[in-house]
Amino acid sequence: MNPDLLRRYLSYYQDLGFKTLYRREGRKTGESIDGPPALPASADTLQRIREEIGDCKRCRLSEGRTQIVFGVGNPEARLVFVGEGPGADEDAQGIPFVGRAGQLLTQMIEGTAKKEGIPLLRQDVYICNVVKCRPPGNRAPEPDEMEICGQFLFQQLEAIRPKAICVLGGTAVKAMLDRKEGVTRLRGNWYDWRGIPVMVTYHPSYLLRAYNQEAKREAWEDLKKVLHYVYD
Ligand code: URA
Repeated sequence: MNPDLLRRYLSYYQDLGFKTLYRREGRKTGESIDGPPALPASADTLQRIREEIGDCKRCRLSEGRTQIVFGVGNPEARLVFVGEGPGADEDAQGIPFVGRAGQLLTQMIEGTAKKEGIPLLRQDVYICNVVKCRPPGNRAPEPDEMEICGQFLFQQLEAIRPKAICVLGGTAVKAMLDRKEGVTRLRGNWYDWRGIPVMVTYHPSYLLRAYNQEAKREAWEDLKKVLHYVYD
């Protein structure tokens, strides 16, 4: 059982008035009276979406990929981050945001949460991308590639239905919001995706460029806003 789910179980029992909980001897950690805890429905749905993607050849991005990068994190996350598409490190490892930009994203999530007194780790949120295969030479995904792969992103978001979505950079904005403006204009404000509040902020790769000190400060402000909205 992950910490977020455990926290929610405990607060549910607290709401019911339980002050003490006992564990029966001989049961394995995480195992309930009825046996192993059932997987949350969203985990099951995510698994089915991954199976539907299969060994995808629906667009040309499949030709250059090593593996499909589906998504990572808590299937019951209250917050989902959406990036653009896998880079070289993600393509090699099969996990989104593990390269330099990913390390910055992790640092931003965990560092900002800690500073704000919110006990949140990367594993508590869910992280995915608009396209699941690495575009050659790290180019931006083309509109048809976004369209084809976007259906799976939307299914993932519907399966999780988080309390908020944080959209990272212009590609994710194009895929999720019907807006003409760029990230600089849209960032820091709330939008809507199928009834879920969406915060727009800069992509971490953009923040890695040395001259972007002001953008970095703004991204931290955006993240603070999201974290307080979701976890307060
Ligand atoms: N950039 C993205 O948009 N996604 C990743 O997974 C890594 C880098």
